[in-house]
Amino acid sequence: MYICPICNSTHLKKRIMKYVEWYGDELLVIERMPALVCDTCGERVYDQHAMEKLQRLLWAPPPSPARVAAK
Ligand SMILES: [Zn+2]
Repeated sequence: MYICPICNSTHLKKRIMKYVEWYGDELLVIERMPALVCDTCGERVYDQHAMEKLQRLLWAPPPSPARVAAK
């Protein structure tokens, strides 16, 4: 069971949300990010596994030299 960190409601629903975050100078947009949305206050809680996966992607080595050279 999930509990809202803001209002302690247990009425959270799994939804696919758009996730937007600044990453350095670049705006990172994830079109389909699994999240839990609180029915009571609207707070979004992002799926822990999805967040970990995202962090791994963010901290992965930079793009291949070929893509950088094509700039
Ligand atoms: Zn809430």
